[in-house]
Order: sequence, then C-alpha cells, then structure tokens
Amino acid sequence: MPSTTGPETTDYDVVVVGAGFAGLYALYELRRRGLNVRVIEAADGVGGTWFWNRYPGARCDVESFDYQFSFSEDLVREWVWSERYPRQEELLAYLNHVADRFELRPDIQLGTRVSSAVLDERSGRWTVTTDRDEHLSAKFVIMATGCLSTARLPDVEGLDSFTGDWYHTGAWPHEGVDFTGKRVAVIGTGSSGIQSIPVIAEQAEQLFVLQRTANYSVPAFNRELSDADRQACADNFPAIRQFARQSMLGGSWSGNDVAAMAVTPEERQAIFEKQWEMGGLPMYVAFTDLLVDQRANDSVKDFIADKIRQRVSDPAIAEKLTPSGYPLGGKRICVDIDYFETFNRDNVELVDVKANPIERITPRGILVGDTELAVDTIVFATGFDAMTGALLSINIEGRGGRTLREKWHAGPATLLGLAVSGFPNMFLVTGPGSPSVFSNMVVSIEQHVDWIAEAIDHLRSKGLQRMEALPDAESAWVDHVNEVADTTLLPQADSWYTGANVPGKPRVFMPYVGGCGLYRQKCDEVAADGYAGFSLTP
Ligand code: FAD
Ligand code: NAP
Repeated sequence: MPSTTGPETTDYDVVVVGAGFAGLYALYELRRRGLNVRVIEAADGVGGTWFWNRYPGARCDVESFDYQFSFSEDLVREWVWSERYPRQEELLAYLNHVADRFELRPDIQLGTRVSSAVLDERSGRWTVTTDRDEHLSAKFVIMATGCLSTARLPDVEGLDSFTGDWYHTGAWPHEGVDFTGKRVAVIGTGSSGIQSIPVIAEQAEQLFVLQRTANYSVPAFNRELSDADRQACADNFPAIRQFARQSMLGGSWSGNDVAAMAVTPEERQAIFEKQWEMGGLPMYVAFTDLLVDQRANDSVKDFIADKIRQRVSDPAIAEKLTPSGYPLGGKRICVDIDYFETFNRDNVELVDVKANPIERITPRGILVGDTELAVDTIVFATGFDAMTGALLSINIEGRGGRTLREKWHAGPATLLGLAVSGFPNMFLVTGPGSPSVFSNMVVSIEQHVDWIAEAIDHLRSKGLQRMEALPDAESAWVDHVNEVADTTLLPQADSWYTGANVPGKPRVFMPYVGGCGLYRQKCDEVAADGYAGFSLTP
C-alpha cells in the first residue's frame, strides 16, 4: 500500500506508462480493486493512438460497436457512435469522455515521458524516472506504451534541407494542415497512407503518391449509424462481445467455417462477394484456410486484384496498385474509403518507388531515381517501430541490472506477451507474443488488463510480493508463438509484424496468431493453475 496519498505521493502500488485505451482501462480497473495507481503519459492529453494520429481521414477500421470498452454497460448505452467506422475526433472524444466519466484524470500525469524503470532487487520495487526528473517508486509497473506509438521516418537523406513543410501521420499537428493549392507528396501506402490519400487528393493541387509496396485493401462501406443500429448494439452487446472474445480476431465478424479449397470456384466467388459487401476486415474470415493455404490465399488475391481493376480506370495504374509477391494478410489488410478511385483523378500521380527508389530529399522536393518531384509538402505515412519501439526507448533495467534492450537484442521474448523473465512485477499490455495487433485491440487490451489485475489480486490475497516469468516457460511460449506463425503464410511478408520495416531490427514474427479465443483460454488456464510458468515469491 502507498506510504501516503495525494498528488505529492511518489510511492505507488502501480505505475502505468501510457494513457491510451490500455492505460485508461488499467487505471480504472486497478483503482477499482483498491490499488494506488499513477499513470504517466507523454502526450498532453489522453487517447494514445487517437491523440497522436490526427491526419486527414484517420478513423478506425474495426466497427464502433466492437472497438469500444465493455467494462461498463452504462458506458455502452450512453455513448452515441455516429458512424460505422468512427473518425479519430470521435474516438478521441470517447476516450476523453471515459477519462471524465470515471474520474480518471486526477491519477494521470500528462506531458511527461518515462525515461527509465529500474528494479531495486533488495526492496523488490521499481523506480520509474521521468523526463521531468521525477522518481516514482512502485511495486508493479505496467507498460501500456502502445504497439504503434513510435512513429518512424525512413532513413532518407536530405530532410533537413527541405524548404517546404513535412509531417508524419503519427504525430499530426493539432491545428490541422491545409493542403489547398499545394503540391503534395505522400510517402507510404499502408493503412495511414490509404486513409489519408483520398482526403488529401480532394484538397491538394497536385498529389504524388510514392508507393513502394502495393497493399491489399477492402472498401469500408462506411455509413451513418441509425438509432435502430445503436439500440440493437446496446441490447445485444454482451453477446456481441462474448462472440468477439472467443473469435480468431477479436471482432464480431461472421465468417465461414469452410475452407476455400473445399468449395467450387463458383461457390468461392459467391462467398468472396458476400464477404466483400460486408466491407473491411471480415475478408480475413471469408474462409478458414486463407492465411494457411497458398492456393486459398491466391484465390482471394485474385479476387481483390479483379476488384482493383474494376475500381481503377487506367489498366497500367491498376496493375501497379495490385499487390504481388507476398500473401494477403502478411501485411495488415487496409480498409479504405475511395482509395483506388482516387487514382482516377487528374491531380493524382502514382510514383513507383520500388522501381525507382527515393534517392534523397532535396530543398525543393524528392529525388526519385533521377527525377525531382517538386513539392510544397511531404507527408510521411511511413509507419512505426512497432510492438517493441516504445518499450525499448525506455531504459528498463531488471534483475542483475540487465536491460530489456540487452535481453531482446535478438528479438522480443515474453511469456504470453504479458511478462518477461528477469523483470519481476512488470507487465506488458498487448506485448509481443500476444494476439495484440493481430486482433481488435480493444478486446485484447481488456483481456490483458483483467488478467494482470487478477494476478495482482492473487498475489495480494496470498501475501505474495513478486511474480516473474520463468525462463523455461518463456522459451516454450516463444517457441509456440513461432510454431503457430510458421503454420501460416504470414511470416513470408516483409512487414512491421516481423520488424522488417526498421533496418537492423531483428526479424521475429511478433504477434501470436493462434486466435484470441484460444489465447484467452491459455491465459485462463495459466491463472487457474496457480500461475503456472511464473515464480511467485513471498
Ligand atoms: P496507444 O494508444 O498507442 O497508447 C500508448 C500511449 O503510451 C501513447 O499515448 C504514448 O504517448 C504513451 N507512451 C509511450 N511511451 C511512453 C513513455 N516512455 N512515457 C510516457 N508515455 C508513453 N487497432 C484496432 O484494433 N482497430 C483499429 O481500427 C485501429 N486503428 C488504428 C489506427 C491508427 C492510425 C493506428 C496508429 C493504430 C490503430 N490501431 C487500431 C491500433 C491502436 O494502436 C490500438 O487499437 C489502441 O489504440 C492501442 O491502445 P494502447 O493504449 O495500447 O496504445
Ligand atoms: P505501415 O503499414 O508500416 O506502412 C508504411 C508505408 O510506408 C508502407 O507502404 C511502406 O512501404 C512505406 N515506406 C516506409 N519506408 C519507406 C521508404 N523509405 N520509401 C518508400 N516507402 C516507404 O504504417 P501505417 O500505414 O502507419 O500503418 C501501421 C499500422 O497501424 C497498420 O498496419 C494498422 O495496424 C494501424 N493503422 C490502422 C488504421 C486504420 O485503418 N484504422 C490506420 C492507420 C494505421 P513498404 O511496405 O514497402 O515497407
């Protein structure tokens, strides 16, 4: 228990790093269980992803009724989602509402970055140090630092010399950017590029889209929600969420329990069409074998390639926009609103930077091959140092003074993506080795926070002080994560799932892809078995 209470306190039961979905729910849940909790957040507001990613067109690609907290039925009933896929503004408003509604703010310190977390082995407590040179002592540390929170600029020379404006989608200015009358280049065609390009194209005088790898994208078929939609969701919410928790991807999408290769080509086409019309991520679950059988994967790739040809008027451009060379799903599928149609506009030009790589940024623009694209503004939609970036930018020192950076030099190793051997009483929310980014993350975040809260309760009720992943159990889990990934086609792609987007980052397939339902069952079994695989010490 804390030595004192109130804002001057520096001793806490739990320090949580991050105030996105994960940090907010961790604070709510642990405080509800009587713990003294402090949340430290680098941003000047709560919301995490939805605080930082304010680029034009930013919205979630999991439907609103799935991408929301389930811990309060009142919250589910009182929050009015306006669209099937809420915009960033609405998601940020929702998370601010949660912070106010549950009086979370007094325990959140904003505008403060955690620089280190060091274990004192004698006391068993963690000292968390911030960039304001504060030192907080905590029995438990929860890293709710986000999987996609460390924005990455590519290693391209010359940005300092650029005389125009430039932005990264993941750190967008709050006042917005007016592209009217501007010549703009967007680098990157992942989800952030695919969402922002159609909106920027409507404003800009000229837009160059610099594509290195074409991506698979399914239209969102976004729409306004009606009162009847909202009522149906609120009335059925417990069942909807229960289904999502037990599903493969943590969503309530209905799929088919049949393999693509087990039906005729005509039946396959009809099922793909049906799934396509649902819009967005349900495409993943059109058939059971899409991510594990090359022929099944090829069949969905062909289906999407046909759709691209239908959406893009110029066959040569359609060809360039058609993904190839990696399996569908190997890079996260994107969900778009008019992305491909944007290339039918006169003011939009697709620039193939695989054929002619970006040489450097010049004072006037971007040198691609030997052609200089003169632009006023560059938008980097170039992604994140995903899953490990935020964790490894904190100096985390565990037993024997060993740092997490040293421990993970060959790639992340965790037990269940929740804990790391050598780092007692430190927990990760949606860490590598858990379904995390390969799921509807709100469902995965809630599951992790609930599991951690239960574990801490267990320790307290038994008079135990310390919980630590055992090295053997951790190794076995890492092997299992790799084995499951290797039964799929997913590791074949150069993606941020494997760290391939960051030069020098170890190549490890980081998410657990055995499915949310199965993973939850494994976590529950570990807990029911007295936290098998962990050492619990008095
Ligand atoms: P975050 O929201 O990333 O919050 C982590 C917080 O920790 C950040 O605010 C960060 O500032 C803070 N932090 C990190 N390091 C430190 C430090 N050292 N000191 C202090 N604070 C620190 N997922 C989905 O399931 N569906 C979607 O549709 C979806 N859309 C997305 C769209 C975008 C543009 C992006 C980037 C991601 C999207 N994601 C989506 C993933 C999204 O990150 C998660 O859904 C979810 O918001 C993660 O919540 P979090 O709290 O775990 O992390
Ligand atoms: P991303 O998927 O990593 O895409 C980055 C893009 O930048 C890729 O097209 C990449 O090309 C390109 N790129 C990077 N360096 C480059 C270089 N030097 N030259 C040319 N191109 C370069 O990042 P993201 O789009 O920000 O998305 C990350 C994740 O966040 C998503 O997968 C998703 O999970 C989440 N997200 C979700 C939504 C949503 O719809 N709700 C929106 C945004 C983000 P290569 O592929 O060739 O490396």
